[in-house]
Amino acid sequence: MIRVGTSGWAGEGLFAAEPIKAGTRIVSYQGERISKEESARRRAALNSYIFHLDYAWDVDGSGLDNTARYVNHSCDPNCRVELDGKEIWIVADRDLEAGQELSFNYGYDLSEYERFPCACGARNCCGYMLAREFWGNLPVERANYEGLFPQ
Ligand SMILES: [Zn+2]
Repeated sequence: MIRVGTSGWAGEGLFAAEPIKAGTRIVSYQGERISKEESARRRAALNSYIFHLDYAWDVDGSGLDNTARYVNHSCDPNCRVELDGKEIWIVADRDLEAGQELSFNYGYDLSEYERFPCACGARNCCGYMLAREFWGNLPVERANYEGLFPQ
């Protein structure tokens, strides 16, 4: 269903190898289960492959055997993340065509987004890998000053 390839905006990416219907669970996010404390340490070291699993645990998907790690952030994503209690799934948010690059919003919050600038190239790119719900809190004048908003 999927293949790794050269991303349109960020190194390697994951692509639909065939048409995928909206709502399809495409790939699950595999990784080491780590405590919140360990997670905070690794995120401070700029590990951007850590996912919230539940109140006590996160998952570090930075291992190369985790195919889902190749899905890049986009501010206009075509996939979303779903937790079913045990697993983290990358789910198609739209009908995808063969050859389309998969993306989801990495969803950093206001406490850490500044360490994760975005260059996804989407028309609505906010300049950071920031969860959509926080975009209204972004200091617009600074983002403009840094040239992070597309013309
Ligand atoms: Zn972006």
